[in-house]
Amino acid sequence: MFPIPKDAAAVILLRHNTDPQDPEVFLVKRSEKLTFLGGFHAFPGGQFDPTDATVPVQNCNDAETATAISCAARELFEETEVLVARGGEALTKGQRASLLDDLQSERMSWPALLKHYDLHLDASDFTFAGRWVTPPFSARRFDTWFFLVNCPAKQQAQVGSEGELENGEWIAASRAFARWEHSEILAVPPVLHALKVLSAGLSADLVQRFLSLPNAHREPVRRIEFRPNYICFPVRTPTKPPATHTNCYLIYTSRELLIVDPGSPYEDEQQALAECIDDLIAEGRSPREVILTHMHPDHIGGVNALRKHFGEQVTVATHRLTAEPLTDVIRVDRLIEDDEVIKLKGWPEISLRAMHTPGHARGHLCFYEERTGTLISGDNIVGLGSVLIDPPEGNMRDYLDSLERMRALPNLSVIFGGHGPAIGNPDAKLGEYISHRLEREQNILQAVREGVTTPGGIVARVYTDVSPKAHAMAERAVLAHLEKLEAEGLISQSLDGALRSNNPTPP
Ligand SMILES: [Zn+2]
Repeated sequence: MFPIPKDAAAVILLRHNTDPQDPEVFLVKRSEKLTFLGGFHAFPGGQFDPTDATVPVQNCNDAETATAISCAARELFEETEVLVARGGEALTKGQRASLLDDLQSERMSWPALLKHYDLHLDASDFTFAGRWVTPPFSARRFDTWFFLVNCPAKQQAQVGSEGELENGEWIAASRAFARWEHSEILAVPPVLHALKVLSAGLSADLVQRFLSLPNAHREPVRRIEFRPNYICFPVRTPTKPPATHTNCYLIYTSRELLIVDPGSPYEDEQQALAECIDDLIAEGRSPREVILTHMHPDHIGGVNALRKHFGEQVTVATHRLTAEPLTDVIRVDRLIEDDEVIKLKGWPEISLRAMHTPGHARGHLCFYEERTGTLISGDNIVGLGSVLIDPPEGNMRDYLDSLERMRALPNLSVIFGGHGPAIGNPDAKLGEYISHRLEREQNILQAVREGVTTPGGIVARVYTDVSPKAHAMAERAVLAHLEKLEAEGLISQSLDGALRSNNPTPP
């Protein structure tokens, strides 16, 4: 059911002759155009290539490790122009550039290129620093080998202007970590772990410190802090594929803790979440309340269990239009209005402004913290899959208005959706969401103008990119679009339900 992680490798590149007390690493920024972790800061790396396994690696007697090293060396070369291969010391900058061109233009494969120039990889240049697996909340999952590598003398790491990376820079690990602490950059747990470990200096126990967490041995991280004070805690839920999990968010200061969407109906997942909350409470915080973005079962399934675990100190707040349909399911203690500000006590200062943003559900709330530009978007925007607008709970006009309202937020820098990883390129993502819906709408209108009279006919005509299995769901979305077009006077329905355009294309 969960996607199988793909093998990948990444390089934590240390600057030549760096200060061992405060080492510098080469940190890259992923392009905002990338759908997966666009806008995040990371280390150079990527997926295994089938040819990686055919490269001999000296001083390595394990085939899998050798493949990972080969992949790490290739990705490092491709992404930063740094070539870590024995025999490469004699190459000039120009020669390395022409080698890179041979590789990138596919004139030569990686193994052929190494062989041709009499270069070889040596495992002692690549220090294993852990294997991290992407949590199962993502549709794209990687099992990534991390290697510590010293940048060879006389080589300059640099990132090309095109491709997957936007830029790269040498930066003290301690400074990069401080930038994350100040909410200036986003990074995934293994990158943060590496920056933290390196911040303490290149001590004799460096590798031991890298490997000190179970997560560095392929145990998926549960508590993900893409941004400080915002824990993303994905819990398994009966949700809509490709998602398998719903993100519960735990937002905390030194004194208080807010719980957003505890969605899992499964006991083991409820237990894991309660343990994480218990830890935060043990550090001196009290739970402020549980807030719900909307009424769908995969966002509320764990509320009653939490109440059972923590007792009456846990109160629940949401919008009136979410509370009403849940009357028999959950006791809601407080209603949240549009524009209301929830200010947490303690440090740092966290003030979340509630936004009533209907569309996916009538009572849908998003929460925005302007100081750091952090938006909790519920199911209005998600990190994987698509958002279903299913009438009558869903409404396409409202949805597009809500998206525009989110796009207009000042200072927006990250979106935490109800499913999937955080979105580090919010402007690009919102633009994509809006244009995707408008494009669908134009195609639907065009189909009606050309004489298609039923929603099923429209699905067959317009949703050619969607598998037939998803056609029933697509038909719900078509209904939402038709409702909007009808409300705008562009189409109407005759008594027998047949669709027609009020403004047919002239022949
Ligand atoms: Zn939902």
